[in-house]
Amino acid sequence: MRMQTETCNRFSWRTHSCVPRRDSSRRLPESSPAPGLDTSVEAAGTSACGAGFSLRRALARLLPIAALLACATWAQPSASADPELHVLPVQGSVSMLVGDGGNITVQAGKDGILLVDTGLAQIAPKAVAALRTISDGPVRYIVNTHVHPDHTGGNEALAKLGRDNPPPTFPRIIAHLAVQERMAAPPPGNEAPVWPNDTYSTPYKDLSFNNEAIVVYHIPAAHTDGDSIVFFRRSDVVSAGDIFTPGRYPFIDLERGGSVQGIINGLNKILEIAVPLKYQEGGTYVIPGHGRLCDEADVVEFRDMVTIVRDRVQDLIKKGMSLEQVKAAKPSFDYDTQYSGSPDAFVEAVYKGLQKQAP
Ligand SMILES: [Zn+2]
Repeated sequence: MRMQTETCNRFSWRTHSCVPRRDSSRRLPESSPAPGLDTSVEAAGTSACGAGFSLRRALARLLPIAALLACATWAQPSASADPELHVLPVQGSVSMLVGDGGNITVQAGKDGILLVDTGLAQIAPKAVAALRTISDGPVRYIVNTHVHPDHTGGNEALAKLGRDNPPPTFPRIIAHLAVQERMAAPPPGNEAPVWPNDTYSTPYKDLSFNNEAIVVYHIPAAHTDGDSIVFFRRSDVVSAGDIFTPGRYPFIDLERGGSVQGIINGLNKILEIAVPLKYQEGGTYVIPGHGRLCDEADVVEFRDMVTIVRDRVQDLIKKGMSLEQVKAAKPSFDYDTQYSGSPDAFVEAVYKGLQKQAP
């Protein structure tokens, strides 16, 4: 049986990299933004960036990265427009590996390597090679932000990089308890992946590694029921998992306990942690589950979009509209040129989630 866990929509690293910031809440569905706002790297190099331009974004756009998302099924990855895996130094001791599948966060230092997520199983050899350009130390910790195989598929291959380096001989694989429970019972016909051996079921878990405080926060019922975000306190970087997917509508996995309110709560938690530098640029960097490196202002924009669409759907539900009527009303219409992914699937997940939590 093929188990589809995420919608698969082609997403470009270069898209949305320099859309001018604006107050999305002031746009009504009938005043759709001009398609031309959606600037590509070729078009965005000069005036389109305006005051929102930052050096980090400029560097990010110059990287030869064309595509980031993969179909996240238990059985089969998608083909990618860019089969390579790229290394992007982020800040402090944190880097990110960007390519087909979910982003992989790397914290490296004298004690070894800590990873947040491990990407698709199929790209694991490339992940190992890319990791070795950052550090030849042992992998001592892996944090899985959630259960989906485009974030956990490389667990087995990357955990082997810790084996010859006792003690411990095998990395601690940290995740919320719900991740372990789901991995221990994979869909029929699928092999159980290497699952977490260090679970937590409290609001957060903290540890110190490479002289850095690292806090793993559980975000209940968001993208799934087992989401974690990871804060690297000295490096000032948050690894967000699929709660945050800039330029792409969030996928809310209702079947695995996700909810729109949980996504909003998770985004607000990231905003609580993040502190920008002057002019709201830079400061805390946020590594999304898929997509380009971001800062707090990017999370604000995404959080506002999710919240506004949630409120519109809620209003339509209050008017007694059916799912089909809500979809026909196009509550995400003015965002559809800015966000890839299926608006209908997003609206449906929001609708069903709100119906479920209604008294
Ligand atoms: Zn996911």
